[in-house]
Amino acid sequence: MAVFSRCSRAATAPTRIATATFAYREPKGRNVQWVFLGCPGVGKGTYASRLSNLLGVPHIATGDLVRHELASSGPLSSKLKEIVNQGKLVSDEIIIDLLSKRLGVEAAKGESGFILDGFPRTIRQAEILEGVTDIDLVVNLKLREEALLAKCLGRRICSECGGNYNVACIDIKAENGRPGMYMAALPPPPQCESKLITRADDTEEVVKERLRIYHEMTRPVEDFYRSRGKLLEFDLPGGIPESWPKLLQALNLEDHEDKESAAA
Ligand code: AMP
Repeated sequence: MAVFSRCSRAATAPTRIATATFAYREPKGRNVQWVFLGCPGVGKGTYASRLSNLLGVPHIATGDLVRHELASSGPLSSKLKEIVNQGKLVSDEIIIDLLSKRLGVEAAKGESGFILDGFPRTIRQAEILEGVTDIDLVVNLKLREEALLAKCLGRRICSECGGNYNVACIDIKAENGRPGMYMAALPPPPQCESKLITRADDTEEVVKERLRIYHEMTRPVEDFYRSRGKLLEFDLPGGIPESWPKLLQALNLEDHEDKESAAA
């Protein structure tokens, strides 16, 4: 099994302002090492990818590494397909192997720091990660359960550019003192419209199984980081327009480009 390389740094909460043009650096001179946790459909990929652009660090989604592997004709491909299409977790060994290879590629390019999305998903993965590097912050994204299934079923991916879109428009009415919630659909641009595909594991049956597995295997990972004082809980208030500025605020970051385009 390939191994992670050890990086050293004590954990600190983010305190500085980042802009879209300068990489945000942790005090000891390296880039952030953050993890995104959250149920399937919560939007980890969307927010991790936006932050990765803002901070200038790679966004590494283990789900993408798995899909890349299963689309290849490699020896693991058919085994992975069966596991993923049933909504089960791939073994810790396979995931660690795929991730350490990817981190090796980033290191060879001279990239430091990362935003991990979809890893760790088990206590064992969290312990292995903790043993090889220091995670600065774990963002636990949360969204109302009734929106998660709809968001997974509405997800569409452009088979050409890999862009992520969503055809579901979520409109939960206020009820019994609970506020309502609105999340607009995220339509593809015209050039992607005819190339949209749905993930094979985004069917109702499989999403329900993925949610069940999240509660069973990944909830304990939240406690793992909570007890180490690294967990930032973030309740998504709605779609990207409401959530992105609030997330930046919670992280003590500023997106100058976003502000400029909003003011334009
Ligand atoms: P995702 O795109 O994060 O929903 O991941 C898609 C699928 O890849 C999951 O349902 C798992 O089968 C597999 N997978 C991704 N990350 C992990 C992980 N950290 N541990 C085990 N399986 C994973």
